[in-house]
Amino acid sequence: MAKRKIDEKIVKEIEELREKIRYHNYRYYILNEPEISDAEYDRLFRRLVELEQKYPELITPDSPTQRVGAEPQKEFRQVRHRQPMLSLDDCFSEEELREFDARTKRFLGGIDKLEYTVEPKIDGLAVELVYERGRLTVASTRGDGYVGEDVTPNIKTIMSVPLVLRQKKGGLPVPDLLEVRGEVYMEKEAFKRLNKEREKQGLPPFANPRNAAAGSVRQLDPKVTAKRPLDIFCYGVGEVSDLGPIKTQYELLLQLQEWGFRINRPYIRVCDSIDKVIEYCKYLEEIRDTLPYEIDGAVVKVNDLELQKKLGAKARSPRWAVAYKFAPVQATTKILDIEVQVGRTGVLTPVAILEPVEIGGVIVKRATLHNQDEIERKDIRIGDTVLVQRAGDVIPEVVMPIKSKRTGKERKFQMPDKCPVCGAKVVKKEGEVAVRCPNKNCPAQIRALLRHFVSKGAMDIEGLGEKIIDLLVEKGLVKEIPDIYYLKLEDLLRLPGFQLRSAKNLLDAIERSKKTTLARFIYALGIRYVGEQTAQILADHFKSLDRLMNATLQELLSIKGIGEKTARSIKAFFEDERNIRNIERLLEAGITFEEVKPKESPIAGKTFVFTGALKSMTRDKAKQLVLERGGRVASQVSRNVDYVVVGESPGSKLAKAKQLGIKTINEEEFLKMLEGSE
Ligand code: NAD
Repeated sequence: MAKRKIDEKIVKEIEELREKIRYHNYRYYILNEPEISDAEYDRLFRRLVELEQKYPELITPDSPTQRVGAEPQKEFRQVRHRQPMLSLDDCFSEEELREFDARTKRFLGGIDKLEYTVEPKIDGLAVELVYERGRLTVASTRGDGYVGEDVTPNIKTIMSVPLVLRQKKGGLPVPDLLEVRGEVYMEKEAFKRLNKEREKQGLPPFANPRNAAAGSVRQLDPKVTAKRPLDIFCYGVGEVSDLGPIKTQYELLLQLQEWGFRINRPYIRVCDSIDKVIEYCKYLEEIRDTLPYEIDGAVVKVNDLELQKKLGAKARSPRWAVAYKFAPVQATTKILDIEVQVGRTGVLTPVAILEPVEIGGVIVKRATLHNQDEIERKDIRIGDTVLVQRAGDVIPEVVMPIKSKRTGKERKFQMPDKCPVCGAKVVKKEGEVAVRCPNKNCPAQIRALLRHFVSKGAMDIEGLGEKIIDLLVEKGLVKEIPDIYYLKLEDLLRLPGFQLRSAKNLLDAIERSKKTTLARFIYALGIRYVGEQTAQILADHFKSLDRLMNATLQELLSIKGIGEKTARSIKAFFEDERNIRNIERLLEAGITFEEVKPKESPIAGKTFVFTGALKSMTRDKAKQLVLERGGRVASQVSRNVDYVVVGESPGSKLAKAKQLGIKTINEEEFLKMLEGSE
């Protein structure tokens, strides 16, 4: 066959991709210090696969697509695997899972039913444990799939790795040779603690729990490994002398458990169709944040071991399994600048301005850096390439700088000693990491306070958005919160962009907000540590603003749900003359509180969480109605929640509720409860 001519550009791109992937493999597998996120690596890898599929004549045996991991390091004794330890093909969508299903059935001669197991894909390090006559003899890393590194003494420090296998009476005999494969990992909390410790000691932090686990196992000194909180989930076997009557992956896992191995039993599912596989993969993705360890996907395996054998393997991966990868939570990008934000209590927060980057479908442009201590501990500089993380509902944060990418042009950041907005000298209270602008007249604080005051959960003044707030403060029309209730039509008409109608509308909205509830008013005041929930607790307890304002510290501390920090903050707030004056002016302006009788309602004292959209009202409205009836609203599902209200297209909260066994109700049931509490 005549050789077809391939564009030089393609050849070059392929070479460059291979070069890059090899480099990142080295940083990831050998150094445990990746320079790019997994999602970015996956993109490079996919592009190479795509090009090699188009131009198969360019595939070389040393292409990263034909190999697994990286070669074992010389420092370790080498261990040859009796059966290769392969990688897994990735897929990123429902369609790709369906393609996998169709491809597998085709390969098996066009069968129409196929059973799968779905297991969480633990993000850790693959190891092989070899047992001879029931005793652990060798433990090794995957290495390049054929030869791994001997890490036996290190693995022996992991408490959940059995050194001698259990033989159940009447159970299947432990085979003479049994090779078990599993993933060594570190729990998220343990990882955070380890990183904090390392940063304190001036050691570079690990990018994620996977790298921490891999770095801990691949240690020359097992004493170091012993100090690291590692664990293992076993998920398969290599060579086994005799598997007896075991016919499926699921039976195999249960048998492993009987012999003493730790498997991830509560989350392993057998699914009899690809639809069920997809459903369960999505479920795992929803609950991923609630698990104590990181998973980066789900592994889908043909359940029947005989069929697995028939399907066999390609160069790098078996045909009988696939990894469904979840949306990424990390990405690398650059810090273009660091800005300082002033919050409503005057706290200065450094914020990284990022080169926009997509993480799991959302464009991230800013990430919090928390405070100066954190910046120093992580050694983050302007111009750094950094790893950014956005997980769950948490604000995006900078995980760590990638120091190997430094050019020398990066600049250290120092928190200013003056407020960037009003110029007042900042203060730092002993024992606190935060610095604060002490100027209560600082326009930044007034702006932030005002934004809070008018927000939905507070006074809910429609139409008073950020731009108008900025204008009002800038033009000196609002110097203190109560000023908004004394605004006149002619004041507004002088502002750019205001017409008679819009000015009147705004004044109407301000007027309407005067009729409110005590809880909303307390929340609107912006007392430190007093969120909507705490405000409701205070309103329920005191039932009058006067009583709250005169409460002693003792009384505040005696209320369930109010901690010491909050109690002190409330006390200090009402001792400040300026706050008292502001409250008086607000009341003089005509703010009144509706009476609520929370005790009679089925909602009183109960905690609700909302997930999904409600048809009959907005989430904010629903929240308000619950609060007004003496109930509480939480943003996350926990054991303290009484009801999860499930609307349309619910999110991960539903899954979590099911997991914790919390009562779920639909919108109709919720409306009934509301009616019952009128
Ligand atoms: P993989 O991690 O995508 O999948 C294979 C591995 O999954 C197995 O070896 C096993 O360790 C693990 N696994 C976890 N739970 C399992 C279960 N229940 N059943 C079977 N296996 C399970 O493949 P890989 O070859 O180990 O690594 C490639 C991935 O590593 C890339 O997709 C990328 O995410 C990451 N990587 C990142 C960089 C980087 O620079 N950031 C570099 C190289 C690799």
